[in-house]
Amino acid sequence: MNQSLTFLGIESSCDDTAAAVVRWSDAGAEVLSSVVEGQAALHAPFGGVVPEIAARAHAERLDHAVEAALAQAGVPLAGLDGIAVTAGPGLIGGLLSGQMLARGLSAATGVPLISVNHLAGHALTPRLTDGIGFPYLMLLVSGGHCQFLAVEGPDQFRRLGSTIDDAPGEAFDKIAKLLALPQPGGPHVEREAALGDPKRFAFPRPLLDRPGCDLSFSGLKTAVLRARDEVIAQNGGLTVQDRRDLCAGFQAAVADVLAEKTRRALAAFPAPVLAVAGGVAANVVLRERLQVAAAQAGARFLAPPLRLCTDNGAMIAWAGIERHRAALPPEGGMAARSRWPLDESAAPLIGHGRRGAKA
Ligand code: AMP
Ligand code: MG
Repeated sequence: MNQSLTFLGIESSCDDTAAAVVRWSDAGAEVLSSVVEGQAALHAPFGGVVPEIAARAHAERLDHAVEAALAQAGVPLAGLDGIAVTAGPGLIGGLLSGQMLARGLSAATGVPLISVNHLAGHALTPRLTDGIGFPYLMLLVSGGHCQFLAVEGPDQFRRLGSTIDDAPGEAFDKIAKLLALPQPGGPHVEREAALGDPKRFAFPRPLLDRPGCDLSFSGLKTAVLRARDEVIAQNGGLTVQDRRDLCAGFQAAVADVLAEKTRRALAAFPAPVLAVAGGVAANVVLRERLQVAAAQAGARFLAPPLRLCTDNGAMIAWAGIERHRAALPPEGGMAARSRWPLDESAAPLIGHGRRGAKA
């Protein structure tokens, strides 16, 4: 039977206002359009994402993003088989903007609404881009998340390890901030690091001395801050080379930790594929180290194109299609959830807060 499903995906959990149309058929999956309006310029003066500004920008721009995505795909609202929307985890104001728009569109057209977990969107992306089968190991390294997921089905995610404090992207951004580099800091820190000496500062490799795949980046950030202050106290300021060496030392520590924890995750879950997602996966040095770790374990390394690795609507549309195809409950009546772990059975993490694990 010749089957096809066309879904709209709406994403507004953090600082990207995104909408996309994805079509799945017997021939494979196709991203018909993907509109992402980043808010980096709005948040840059504050050195981080400001939830109220994000919520307002989503409310103002989401309908335009949806309109553009439908127009670029050449698909009318009535031509959709489903509307998938991120219900969490994320910033509640943005999530509510997306949910309200999606509910309104669904109510007006009768097109079914499917609520999607943002992390499921990231985790299922390698199936959209490369058509791989289950199982595989997913490493999510972004500005808000860091976890290893054993992906065994469209709704079967086992968390093997996770950060117990900061996400790596957050750490890159904080290092950039304390070295007066622009935001978002990741690419700037990488550029400086390429010109620095990674051995000059002996930064810690957090949690390598403990078994398992959990990660931590907060202590590393403090170590860089201390080293910076020591150099300033001794020399009265930072030279260009000091800054490069600090970046190089920091990045080398992150790379060592991620490579070793990936090795452990692949040993615990010997999957045929290691896939990465998240903005930090853009880092060439990190990518190379992960590739080596995968090769050593006999696994294929897969990094979807960056525009589908960072926050986007296509991954949400695709996660909706996956739920639909697997006849999973649409979770359409679900309210927005700022905290929504993919693996609800995983033990809560240190620093997860009083209301339970965030992601
Ligand atoms: P996301 O949360 O997936 O939207 O990704 C954004 C995060 O990725 C930000 O924290 C960026 O600083 C980080 N990032 C982007 N490019 C790089 C890079 N080349 N190296 C390290 N981090 C990066
Ligand atoms: Mg983002």
